[in-house]
Amino acid sequence: MNYKEFLKKFREKQLKKRKPRDKDKPIAVWMQDDIYRDFKIGKSLTIILRTEGCYYAREGGCLMCSYLMDSSPEKITAENLINQFNYAIEKYKEKLKELKDFSVKIFTSGSFLDDREVSKEVRVYIIKKLSEFDNLKEVAIESRAEFIDEEKLKEIRKYLNVNVEIGVGIESFNEEIREKAINKGITNEQIIKAIELAEKYNIGIKAYLFIKPLFITEKEAIEDAIYSANKCIELGCSRISFCPATVHKGSLMEYFFNKNQYRPPFLWSIIEILKEVKENNPNALIMCDTSGVGSERGAHNIYGCRCNKIIKEKIEKFTLTQDLSVLNIDCECKKIWEAYIEAESKNIVPLGDERKL
Ligand code: SF4
Ligand SMILES: [Zn+2]
Repeated sequence: MNYKEFLKKFREKQLKKRKPRDKDKPIAVWMQDDIYRDFKIGKSLTIILRTEGCYYAREGGCLMCSYLMDSSPEKITAENLINQFNYAIEKYKEKLKELKDFSVKIFTSGSFLDDREVSKEVRVYIIKKLSEFDNLKEVAIESRAEFIDEEKLKEIRKYLNVNVEIGVGIESFNEEIREKAINKGITNEQIIKAIELAEKYNIGIKAYLFIKPLFITEKEAIEDAIYSANKCIELGCSRISFCPATVHKGSLMEYFFNKNQYRPPFLWSIIEILKEVKENNPNALIMCDTSGVGSERGAHNIYGCRCNKIIKEKIEKFTLTQDLSVLNIDCECKKIWEAYIEAESKNIVPLGDERKL
């Protein structure tokens, strides 16, 4: 069995554990403080629709991802998706009306622009509905780069004249890392093409960059994230959104994590990345996701150290304010991070959890 066949089989085994869920309700919907493209702070409404899931994941997919587990094992019709969207909007309609402005994020944990996941009919319905809000300031969607084409961008621009951004899982700008350590199945060429095409329609590309894929060391992960962010900014991405690794249940990453052959990134590494990238690109919008941060499966310093919670809050504050000074912090455990990087550089393979070595 080759590597790709192994991944596909691995995924199929996990998928058998999926349970049917309510097809007319989204996976999640919430409102939060957020930063707009013009650096102003406002509110965003995030709606995660339950589709049949990312089609690429079915073929094996990215090594760190198990979003497909949240998708529906049963057929999801256009009507189901429209019901999900309406459910979310109804729930927040009154609050939205009271706001001066707001942004909406329509995610599927897959590709909003893949017709197999979200049909044209549903996309147009959603976009039209959103355009009816006078106080809508921004719209964000997510898609794999290969689905970003002229037709879909025209479809968006036909109804929406607000700031639109497409979140694309670029993960790393090093093709070898993206292919071998993530199995993303997308080339730099495809990514550059998508960025250029989006620019033509005045649509931004939010670059999702993954911090610390499998098979690379902590130091390589820091270097890779900095290099990739600089590259994405140079190419004209509208914002950088770092995603520090969280070990998803049912992912290949979990398989290595359970064997202590993978450790999620230290928060010290994340601080270093954010500082370096923001210092080099003061006008770029740099964000960092904090889901999972502080937990054993997410990015953390020494597990249980009090700095984990403090740094999580500091990263959240940095994302909103873009102010690097909020990231100033010190803790005794920083020495362990330095020692870990040093020890790992002398080892043939990346290290696992420092407590189990
Ligand atoms: S990371 Fe994105 S493209 Fe990769 S398998 Fe998950 S949902 Fe699909
Ligand atoms: Zn600490």
